[in-house]
Parts: sequence; structure tokens; C-alpha cells
Amino acid sequence: MNIADDCVVTLAYTLRDSAGEVLDSATAAEPFAYVQGRRSVIAGLEKQLAGRAVGDKLDISIEPAEAYGEHSPARVQTVPRDRFPEGIDIEPGMQFHAGDEHGGRMPVRVTEVNEDGVVIDANHPLAGQTLHFAVEVLGVRAATAEELAHGHVHGPGGHHH
Ligand code: ZN
Repeated sequence: MNIADDCVVTLAYTLRDSAGEVLDSATAAEPFAYVQGRRSVIAGLEKQLAGRAVGDKLDISIEPAEAYGEHSPARVQTVPRDRFPEGIDIEPGMQFHAGDEHGGRMPVRVTEVNEDGVVIDANHPLAGQTLHFAVEVLGVRAATAEELAHGHVHGPGGHHH
């Protein structure tokens, strides 16, 4: 069976950035599973895996446009220190949730603290990065009606409920 929309795909993978640093991984013992064609993984990964079968091993590089997007300078801003809780040290790498214009909550990361205030970045942490996946296809099967209705995989590598 080859990977097509509405298949459950089970993978082992190692994800590295362009510097070769490992960002994430899944193993045969603890695999990752997703439903193909539902945009639950980045577009470039779905595209490269389409048509593949169990046992296929691929080295894939995915440009930002098909991964987490370009890094947008408009999503970086400096806010006054007094907008943050008192009594805690604000340091680069900390994460907060900021209210957005739609009444939602979006995660932001502190990238710098300087005399003007706190620089926060609302881009995805992997925005602007080319991602390098070493992937092995461990399983391909048709998703069940229940999995398609839920939009996620049940069982190994997926949800248990
Ligand atoms: Zn479910």
C-alpha cells in the first residue's frame, strides 16, 4: 500500500536543523503516526511522502515555505517591561501567552531583554528554517471512519482514548 490521502502513516524520523542539531525524533519503539492529507504535519513532509511505502527511507530537506513559513519581522516587537508580571526575571527563551486581536491566545518567546523593554517573537520557533528529515516509513494503512471523524490516529503513535 502506498501513502495517499486518508492513510494512517507511521514513521520513525530524525529532524535536524541546517546546523545538524537534532530538533526532534521518533523511533520504531515510539513512532509518530498521522493521517495523510489533513495538514496535521507540514506540507513539505506530506508532499514528499505521498506514494511511498513501508520500508522506504528518505532524506528530505524542506524549505520554510513548506514547513513553518518565513520568519516575519512584523511578528517581533518590543514591549515595556511593566507589561510583564513583577517579581520574575524575564530572560531570553521564556515563553508567554499574549492576547491577539481575535481574542485568542498566542504563544510568544522572549528573544532579548534590553533597555527599551522586552523583545518578543510570535513567529513559530522553526519559522525561517530549512528542516532536514531522515525518515523511515514503518506503516501505511487506511484510516478508520472513527479516525477520520476525529482527525487523528488511534493506537500506536496516536491518541489513546
Ligand atoms: Zn479520537
